[in-house]
Amino acid sequence: MIISIASGKGGTGKTTIAASLALSVPGARILDCDVEEPNCHIFIKPEIKEKTSIYIPVPEIDKNKCDYCGKCKQVCMYNAIAVLNKTTLVFTELCHGCGACSYFCPQKAIKEVNKEIGFIEIGKKDNLSFIHGKLNIGQAMSPPLIKAVKKYINSAKVNIIDAPPGTSCPVVESVKGSDFCILVTEPTPFGLNDLILAVEVLRKLDIPFGVVINRSDLGDKKTDVYCENENIPILMRIPFRQEIARAYSKGQPIVEAFPEYKKDFQDLFNTIKNGKFS
Ligand code: SF4
Ligand code: SF4
Repeated sequence: MIISIASGKGGTGKTTIAASLALSVPGARILDCDVEEPNCHIFIKPEIKEKTSIYIPVPEIDKNKCDYCGKCKQVCMYNAIAVLNKTTLVFTELCHGCGACSYFCPQKAIKEVNKEIGFIEIGKKDNLSFIHGKLNIGQAMSPPLIKAVKKYINSAKVNIIDAPPGTSCPVVESVKGSDFCILVTEPTPFGLNDLILAVEVLRKLDIPFGVVINRSDLGDKKTDVYCENENIPILMRIPFRQEIARAYSKGQPIVEAFPEYKKDFQDLFNTIKNGKFS
């Protein structure tokens, strides 16, 4: 089973909720797909046992063969190639490594060379498996690294994916294929605005989802009203407690700082597994 944890905006407490859920399901795996700024490891504190560099194939032009026909530029969906004044330029920072340019080059003037975009680390915390990806500084293309992290999904296990915040490409790449997505929000106008955007994305992807409201006793009731009108289940409410905020700032997930929450997270998992939303 794959459960992803996402949020339309940053700062909602998504990662501490992902970590708490993973720590409450025996034998689970947590995959941190927020590769631009992974921070699950701060909460889980795994022992890292393996590190693997991740590469994508980027084009290298053979100037002796290239006749500047521009076909490679035409087929590149990511504007990673420019052809001007008898020069063919490749912007590897924009390249997704799809291979289309080399496939379509009539002169066979393109060779693919590996470019390192980041790395994956694999570790353990007790019986919880931990996988995260980290994008190299200056590297803009996170989807290929997210794909590489998701190769470690084990379909026989419960896989918890911590998705990046927002609603852009990396979020779509992270959550697609999930059996269920938990949207973490807070009951504020900004929280609601970004929740609505995230709901639109999940509905387009046809992924079942529900909402967890963090700091649920602050803000207003508009999130509740929206969820009720849209028939979106509210799966859990976590009230604001200064002690939770303090534990968060020390890198302690909720269930570690307050073990009484473990049952709530186990109930959350069982609700999702059994599909029984009220
Ligand atoms: S498609 Fe090939 S020959 Fe044409 S401009 Fe690109 S590299 Fe050069
Ligand atoms: S490999 Fe794909 S993304 Fe990269 S330059 Fe070629 S066509 Fe563009």
